Amino acid sequence: MGIIIYGVKRKLKEEKSLGVQFCPNCGKQVELQLTREKVYGHVYYIPLLPMSGWKVKLCPNCGVAAKLTPEEYKALKQG
Ligand SMILES: [Zn+2]
Repeated sequence: MGIIIYGVKRKLKEEKSLGVQFCPNCGKQVELQLTREKVYGHVYYIPLLPMSGWKVKLCPNCGVAAKLTPEEYKALKQG
């Protein structure tokens, strides 16, 4: 009987600043970041395909990440 070693890795990639906005979580005016989050799984340290690729608005103050729909992401990225 072997032991299966597995886990996940999270990677955040900040794409662009969305300017100073009101964060609904911490109630502060903060510079929100348009961020892509990727979660990779790995088994025996062999990476698997990315399991998800959330697009989020990240608050640098409280660290809350609000998930965006593809439409919202597109609009924010272009705007
Ligand atoms: Zn916040």
